[in-house]
Amino acid sequence: MESSQYDILIIGGGILGLSTAMQLLERAPQWRVAVVEKEDQLATHQTGHNSGVMHSGIYYRPGSHKAKFCVAGLNNMVKFCEENEIEFQQCGKVIVATHESELGRLQDLHDRGTANGVPDLEVVGPERLKEIEPHTVGVKALWAPHTGIVDFTKVATAFAEKFQQAGGDIFTGATVRNIIKTTGSVALETTKGSLQAKHLINCAGLHADKIASMTDEKIGVRIIPFRGEYYTLRPESHHLVSGLIYPVPNPEFPFLGVHFTRNIKGHVEAGPNAVMALQREGYRKRDFNLGDSLGNLGYPGFWKMAAKYWKIGMGEIWRSYNKRVFLRDLQTLIPEIQDSDLAGGGSGVRAQAVARDGSLLDDFSIIQGRDAIHVLNAPSPGATSSLAIGEHIAGLAVENFG
Ligand SMILES: Cc1cc2nc3c(=O)[nH]c(=O)nc-3n(C[C@H](O)[C@H](O)[C@H](O)COP(=O)(O)OP(=O)(O)OC[C@H]3O[C@@H](n4cnc5c(N)ncnc54)[C@H](O)[C@@H]3O)c2cc1C
Repeated sequence: MESSQYDILIIGGGILGLSTAMQLLERAPQWRVAVVEKEDQLATHQTGHNSGVMHSGIYYRPGSHKAKFCVAGLNNMVKFCEENEIEFQQCGKVIVATHESELGRLQDLHDRGTANGVPDLEVVGPERLKEIEPHTVGVKALWAPHTGIVDFTKVATAFAEKFQQAGGDIFTGATVRNIIKTTGSVALETTKGSLQAKHLINCAGLHADKIASMTDEKIGVRIIPFRGEYYTLRPESHHLVSGLIYPVPNPEFPFLGVHFTRNIKGHVEAGPNAVMALQREGYRKRDFNLGDSLGNLGYPGFWKMAAKYWKIGMGEIWRSYNKRVFLRDLQTLIPEIQDSDLAGGGSGVRAQAVARDGSLLDDFSIIQGRDAIHVLNAPSPGATSSLAIGEHIAGLAVENFG
């Protein structure tokens, strides 16, 4: 890699970095822009390890970034996939109340979704639920017919191709090790050499806080990784799930609860749970990184988070090591599912920003520094929202760096 001068360098070749890169060159084609990615391939972390659900925007507080970007993002994503011949399906999703005590929260979700502009939401009774998902049992369910499925790696790859066709550069296998700021310019020291730019955009996902601290930005959060583990349904059990089947989520926890997903490749997955990982890219239970773990222990927000969520956290660990417990939770949605229906599956690791007071940031967090824009919290529905988030960041860049 030669030492080159760019207007903007984007750190992170996941779906958000690539969406931003593509839309930056659409808005400012005269700029020299490059994406710097540490892995040899693009989209290998959160973008390549998720449920592949195009969410419709039900869960999120009206007026929040998540609500706005998810609703807009789904529409843009559908259009993008149609125009670029990327396979997707709007198979619809049910959120199932399995107990009377969940009916109030189910109605709240209906009202929230409607306030967010999600069209055609409907609370249905057990008979209609049986028509949609014949093997699912519930008191009532919220039916969201426009929720869909797609392969987000394919979407991210299409963003990358468009960016390169517009003249953008992508450097893979280049880990950003240090950032040196001088007046009017920043130098990125990477494992493949150095790059200069006037401005930076930090889309480094699980490492976004580390990158922000290299620019001396005071961000007040730390990324704590939460692994999500999946089982897959054996092919002979696929008939148990037609589309997407979710529980009513625990309102105190920003994750959606273990659910069933028929993905675009035709597999059916059950999960993910949410277990704190001991390494930022710790996809296996045994993965451990001393630096990441000591960093967590030294962060005051970690201890406050532990004090607040220890009970839920212990439950997640217990379920992670006990297939029986995982199965029991799945049986609340599909009672006839059995241990023999489940085979081992993959996992993903979520980048969850935790504030110094121990709270888990719920909304997307995108902050504007003097020379850089940082994406500090972009959990689900970040992939669905990627076009809307990229448009927002490109807009910020044009306004502030132009
Ligand atoms: C288990 C799970 C399930 C999910 N399900 C859904 C879903 O169904 N629907 C949905 O909309 N969203 C879902 N999400 C969320 C979604 O995947 C993320 O919001 C989205 O992928 C975030 O994209 P990103 O580009 O910010 O992060 P990433 O894809 O993680 O990309 C960040 C990139 O930065 C690179 N990087 C980091 N540090 C450096 C460095 N120092 N130098 C160079 N490069 C660096 C990394 O290698 C990585 O490629 C899920 C996430 C998980 C983990």
